[in-house]
Amino acid sequence: MTLRPADSSALLVDGKLIPGSGGTFEVLNPATEEVVGLAAQGTASDMDAAIGAARRAFDTTDWSRDHAFRARCLRQLCDALQSHLEELREITIAEVGAPALLTSGPQLEGPVADLRYWADLAEGYSWETDLGTATPMGIATRRRVFKEAVGVVGAITPWNFPHQINFAKLGPALAAGNTVVLKPAPDTPWCAALVGKVIAEETDIPPGVVNVVTSTDHRLGAQLAEDPRVDLVSFTGSTATGKAVMRAAADSLKRVFLELGGKSAFIVLDDADIAGASSYAAFSVCMHAGQGCALTTRLLVPRARYDEAVAAAARTMAGIRPGDPTEPGTVCGPLISARQRDRVEGYLRLAVEEGGTLVTGGGRPADFGRGFFVEPTLITGLDNSARVAQEEIFGPVLVVLPHDGDDDAVRIANESPYGLSGAVWGTDPDRVGRVVAGVRTGTLSVNGGVWYSADAPFGGYKQSGIGREMGVAGFEEYLETKLVAAPATA
Ligand code: NAD
Repeated sequence: MTLRPADSSALLVDGKLIPGSGGTFEVLNPATEEVVGLAAQGTASDMDAAIGAARRAFDTTDWSRDHAFRARCLRQLCDALQSHLEELREITIAEVGAPALLTSGPQLEGPVADLRYWADLAEGYSWETDLGTATPMGIATRRRVFKEAVGVVGAITPWNFPHQINFAKLGPALAAGNTVVLKPAPDTPWCAALVGKVIAEETDIPPGVVNVVTSTDHRLGAQLAEDPRVDLVSFTGSTATGKAVMRAAADSLKRVFLELGGKSAFIVLDDADIAGASSYAAFSVCMHAGQGCALTTRLLVPRARYDEAVAAAARTMAGIRPGDPTEPGTVCGPLISARQRDRVEGYLRLAVEEGGTLVTGGGRPADFGRGFFVEPTLITGLDNSARVAQEEIFGPVLVVLPHDGDDDAVRIANESPYGLSGAVWGTDPDRVGRVVAGVRTGTLSVNGGVWYSADAPFGGYKQSGIGREMGVAGFEEYLETKLVAAPATA
């Protein structure tokens, strides 16, 4: 089979690839602003059918109990996707504007390969634990703990790393024995639709176990969160939408798993290589045009070395030209949409209104007639109370803030509604250790260490989310615990 964009204009409902009841909608290439094809327009009735199919598949098949079969299906899916990598790469670059460079890692190949990690967990996990015998209330009782799938999972995902986020939900949810309805973001329907097609045509995953409903209608996400047939809603997106999902899920008291926004701090201590660290921070915020929830978008540097840090960061950012994502050397591609570019440009205007200086960048690159590109931009001259230091911008924008020592750096890092990620650079391990212990975030990189991998739990403190994705912790989000007590036989 060869995947073509035209193949992606179908929903997957109950094992069948079907047209959307609402017709189709256009998919834009953010680097060229051209319509590259059509996606299926799912409606509330399609979503209703998808939820019904997932419920039936969970309640009436032994998918949730056959661990070996699920492991086999996940490996089969991994193999099938790997046989389509080049087509998927092309489509991912066209739809997401993802730099080709990143498709060798987190934008495609990494999360596809990680499906094997989930398959291994399905097989190797301790599904049953013997607690032994106790005599509560005088009755000798043998207690066993069973881990079981939660049931039907509603997965709602954003556009910035669609494969990574779709598979970070599908992988553990399926490995744990759940059935899934996936609703991807309106800007990136193809990445999910093509996975649906591969599942339908090239795997033994039974009908109804995975359903994919693409749509421009955000209300389909709310429908998933509300529907009492859904047992768990797993959401990645903005904090504002995460709160709406939690509210919608409250009536049926379903389990809620949230991966939300961030405004992470990159802390440089005064014994670090200030210029090297600042340059590294500036480079990393330009990756995928800054459209990463865990990017460190506040650079905290010693006050006495502020100018040195700014000069190094500005040099790096000025050297990164936004570019065609199909080019192998491109790091900073386009933003996903005109709406997102407007939002980022609005924040750049706000930075100036707040009294800040745009040291480099600040607008659209002059050499692009088309595409939603924004120049890497460095903001200085503000403190941490500025809105551009508090709010998530989701563009290639870095704010440099001065700190007055290690404790002050920790205070500033924590002065945020978010708590997703961060970085600490310094040479004294004791000082670095104290800063690491003080920062309230779910992941931290020390001196360039990489926290992202299939077995490493990822998630946020505070308003960056609830729960952990990836790793055993991420797998267990999709499990219930059943304690079975029976009289102990002598
Ligand atoms: P978004 O919140 O606008 O949309 C995310 C998804 O939610 C989309 O599929 C959308 O259709 C759906 N949705 C919208 N309204 C809904 C509602 N009321 N009920 C249910 N679903 C609804 O986010 P976005 O703009 O697509 O993505 C960018 C945001 O995602 C950023 O804030 C970023 O930080 C965050 N993000 C977080 C992580 C993480 O792991 N923490 C990862 C990637 C992106």
